[in-house]
Amino acid sequence: MPFGHDMVYSLATVVELINTAAGDHDALVDIDDLRAFVRKRRVSGVDAVTVRDLAEVRTLRTDFHDVFTAPDQIAAVTRLNKLLGRTSITPRLAEHDGFALHIHYFAPGASLAEHLAADCGVALAHVLVENEWERLRRCRAPDCEHVFVDESRNRSRVYCDSRTCGNRMHVAAYRARRRPERDQGKKRPAVG
Ligand SMILES: [Zn+2]
Ligand SMILES: [Zn+2]
Repeated sequence: MPFGHDMVYSLATVVELINTAAGDHDALVDIDDLRAFVRKRRVSGVDAVTVRDLAEVRTLRTDFHDVFTAPDQIAAVTRLNKLLGRTSITPRLAEHDGFALHIHYFAPGASLAEHLAADCGVALAHVLVENEWERLRRCRAPDCEHVFVDESRNRSRVYCDSRTCGNRMHVAAYRARRRPERDQGKKRPAVG
């Protein structure tokens, strides 16, 4: 993908944020969950997280999910513009926590949700500008709600994770292919 390392990092963060809501188990329900997310994604400049942060980040998660799962590029642009329109953005170069020099987009004093909205929102904006909207995908496995960014050269990735969903679906397809043979095999003695 024609994106810088900081864009790729922010895209991974937004994917991870959206996927906390995927499936039966919501992985972002309390302050501890939010703290763990901030730690894991190494979101900089966050002193303490509050109940308000949690509520705001959960709302933002839904907004980002709606951008990812927009039916077409026009809808994705409209949804992302709405999100960016209420986010103050201040580009600034930064180097911290072992990350190479990169650009921060969140404004000084931004809340956690504003921080994520700015950095992840700009990263998604670049995806759309590069006409790569198609790379924002939802896993094709029927029982999986994960989203992902398809970074493959030929945009051919269809599962969130090849080892889990990809493997599972391949096994299911293999079994489906084999089943008719087996059923035939069972019938034969009855006919004979
Ligand atoms: Zn940073
Ligand atoms: Zn999946």
